[in-house]
Amino acid sequence: MPVINRIGEFHREMTEWRQDLHAHPELALQEIRTSGVVQAKLKEFGVDEIITGMARTGVVGVIRGNGTSGRAIGLRADMDALPIVEETGAPYASQNHGVMHACGHDGHTTMLLGAAKYLSETRNFDGTVFVIFQPAEENLAGGDIMVKEGLFERCPMDMVFGLHNWPQMPAGSFAWRNGPVMAAVANIEITITGKGTHGAQPHFGTDPIVIASHIVTALQTIVARTIEPVEGGVVTIGHINGGHTYNVIPETVRMLGTARWFDARVGDQLEDGVRRLATGIAESFGAKADVMFSRDYPATVNDPDATSLARRAATAVAGEARVVPMQKPTMGGEDFSFMLNAKQGSYIMLGGGRGKDDAMVHHPRYDFNDEILPVGASYWATLAEQLLPRQD
Ligand SMILES: [Zn+2]
Ligand SMILES: [Zn+2]
Repeated sequence: MPVINRIGEFHREMTEWRQDLHAHPELALQEIRTSGVVQAKLKEFGVDEIITGMARTGVVGVIRGNGTSGRAIGLRADMDALPIVEETGAPYASQNHGVMHACGHDGHTTMLLGAAKYLSETRNFDGTVFVIFQPAEENLAGGDIMVKEGLFERCPMDMVFGLHNWPQMPAGSFAWRNGPVMAAVANIEITITGKGTHGAQPHFGTDPIVIASHIVTALQTIVARTIEPVEGGVVTIGHINGGHTYNVIPETVRMLGTARWFDARVGDQLEDGVRRLATGIAESFGAKADVMFSRDYPATVNDPDATSLARRAATAVAGEARVVPMQKPTMGGEDFSFMLNAKQGSYIMLGGGRGKDDAMVHHPRYDFNDEILPVGASYWATLAEQLLPRQD
């Protein structure tokens, strides 16, 4: 792969960093060791400044180039792991049972560290590069916290860029997209309260299990019958809990689910549909439904100008044939969306596939592909050098 030669030289070193991070995964907002490793490495590389404390474990390294330009860009990686029991069998598998780097954030952190090492060493750019190591991408919106805690005020920058590895794309290839690239996410929680009774005496109670069944079925009609067919949307109930045994009708049933969309109007329609159907159906059966529809992550929307710059950098590293347009956005969520809502920028996919049977991210047998470490690090470094060119 045509990576930056100097970065290729520390491929082995980066592989060691990645596997060490993989062995010591930490959940969202608990990335104490990871944050410490990042800080120690940035210090060792000789970055100009290290900013800590944003979103608890967040770290920003400031690298100033040669020259007097006031321009600046941000490069962002995420650091957190997932509550999954690892099944890779790798010699460097998680030593923190029940926690696993199953989304490749170990690789993301390592690639940005690799770029930081190269950029600190070479300074072949004019301006400032902020390397942003963000906690809690999964569920707890570390990206939002960093923005709220003043990331862009403390680190004034013109554009911000993000990247995710993608095991279903060939290793070392890139996919770009203008506009929406990842979906907006809401968590749904519905509690149905009926009246518990003996399973053989249903007429003395109000059965929340039957009501829950009607609600689950009716929720399927929101996307099918109220959303314009060419728009994207999903409502999924992923968990139902109610009752304990054969012959008791319980008092309550609790359901958890997720909703996804791109267009904010569709989000409103999904929320309205979930609330209306759940409360209306429960009421019509003489029970009550409490509905929580919590909008967690907005859609991740790429700016076309920033995307063409990202695409140019990716092409310089991977070659034209390996930089392809992403045909469709994905329904996954991403909290880089909060940074893109506050700052012009773009989020690109980097392929990490080894063959046909690559486990998808969030799978217990997924493992970041170390072969692409220098590709990602070269992409970051190239982006910095292209966007902040030296004047001399
Ligand atoms: Zn993930
Ligand atoms: Zn991820």
